[in-house]
Amino acid sequence: MPRRLSGVGAARATGAGTAVWDGSEPELGDPPAADAVDADAELERFEAARNAAREGLHAERERATDRLDDAEAAVFDAHIQFLADPQLAEGVREGIGDGLPAEHAVNRAFGEFLARFEEMDGRMAERADDLRDVRDRVLRALTGAARDDPADLPAGSVVLAERLTPSDTARLDPDRVAGFATVTGGRTSHAAIFARSLGLPAVVGVGEGLREVAAGTEVVVDGSRGRVVVHPDAATREAAEREEGAEVRAEPVATADGTPVEVAANVGRRADLAAAAEHGADGIGLFRTEYLFVDRASPPGEAEQYDAYREALGAFPDGHVVVRTLDVGGDKPIGYLDLPEEANPFLGERGIRRSLGPDADVFETQLRALLRAAATESGGRLSVMVPLLATVEEVIETRDVMESVAADLGAAGEAYAIPEFGVMVETPAAALLVDALVDHVDFLSLGTNDLAQYVMAAERGNRRVADLADPRQPAVLRAIETAVTAAEGADVRIGVCGEMAGDPELTALLVGLGIRELSVAPTAVPRVKRAVTQVRDDAARDLAERALAADTHQGVLDAICECGE
Ligand code: PEP
Ligand code: MG
Repeated sequence: MPRRLSGVGAARATGAGTAVWDGSEPELGDPPAADAVDADAELERFEAARNAAREGLHAERERATDRLDDAEAAVFDAHIQFLADPQLAEGVREGIGDGLPAEHAVNRAFGEFLARFEEMDGRMAERADDLRDVRDRVLRALTGAARDDPADLPAGSVVLAERLTPSDTARLDPDRVAGFATVTGGRTSHAAIFARSLGLPAVVGVGEGLREVAAGTEVVVDGSRGRVVVHPDAATREAAEREEGAEVRAEPVATADGTPVEVAANVGRRADLAAAAEHGADGIGLFRTEYLFVDRASPPGEAEQYDAYREALGAFPDGHVVVRTLDVGGDKPIGYLDLPEEANPFLGERGIRRSLGPDADVFETQLRALLRAAATESGGRLSVMVPLLATVEEVIETRDVMESVAADLGAAGEAYAIPEFGVMVETPAAALLVDALVDHVDFLSLGTNDLAQYVMAAERGNRRVADLADPRQPAVLRAIETAVTAAEGADVRIGVCGEMAGDPELTALLVGLGIRELSVAPTAVPRVKRAVTQVRDDAARDLAERALAADTHQGVLDAICECGE
């Protein structure tokens, strides 16, 4: 009998295989009596283990740079900082002073820090995994415990674990591992972020039920629905295998009735550009430029940005490249920008609010680079989009800044072009104002991750309210519909670049709602293109009507589910 366990879908992909338990936490026995411990020798062992762990981390970072990208590989820099933390080291020395051997002292000192992280919510709690990763590395260096090598896993393994640390995840080989599921963890833990980047199906935060799944059991990990199916029936397994193998289509696609739907890619890191092209994306629907700004000591200059934007245009010579201006604040801090301490950063100075306020210089430099890149003759067509817009004044002001940047470039004799200009519809205010915004923009893009968070007053990274921060909530669907209807009335293009666009189960719903442009993670492009070709226009419109008529979350889920059957 198939059994379904629910968790949080970390990567919208599905995989089937055989369960393998990962138990990488080194085990410690009871400590010996305090008087049997030679404190000086233990201190030396600790320092030697710390050095070995540091070297291991530098090597891990290099390996991760090959497979992930600099911004993600930089997670290991944070680990190196944990390792150098004087308070942690002091805690270990105190433990040794209390008569503990080095490994028990490490366990105790890290345990105290871990407890503090775990008491916090959201992202901070998820950083506990990073700390655990560092602790286990030092413990392994002390105890000589070997770590299971993922290269030894048989092909088609589904890794089950209490939790996966960032290094565990970075080492998983997508050619051997069909997916993973963890007892704990949230959508924004590094394990989840890496899973998305590697295109690995993953469900995190499944809870206690996962522990009952024995090694060797057949399982399907469905990252789209956040579901682990134990002992799947043949149909579920075949559907998962079909999904794994969606073919890449380089050409644009249309529904079964011939309605064209663009499927572009969301990119943030350099490696995503190649991945987007390889997976057949029609263009770039969202270039998250914050990745150019993180993990460095000062903002990238105009020349560096100009090169980055031209590189994106070069990767899609026949397509659109929509570059979003810097979206900092909220959950995206950047040290050198000196963000204020805010009680509710998601409701504070974020996105365009900073660009028109304290980061005006940074914004001007970014716009100069963008306007110059827009004049490039070879390559795709560049558009500029701004994040977190909430008022018409902000659009007018942004356009004024753009015009003044253009005037400066012109006066200096620089080649430039005014790109198409659009805004993200990701606040309820913007969704309600689309009928006014359309007079000032060339296109709109629904950022459903933030739109769901703000419509539902439910933080997008907080596992406890994950069901609320879900674009399939009736209130979010109605906000989307309001925006789409107003955009259609004015004949202004509107697309979706939030995560929901990458879920093939929602493709028919979005097409039925009138969406003709989707922008999704590069690895999701083939699945979404296939889903588009299977849409029947009438059925999609009916589905949208039924979903919009539903007053409850379950009602929307039922409408989507019935349509998929
Ligand atoms: C969104 O909010 O849906 C979006 C695409 O932007 P980000 O996830 O970068 O906030
Ligand atoms: Mg957003």
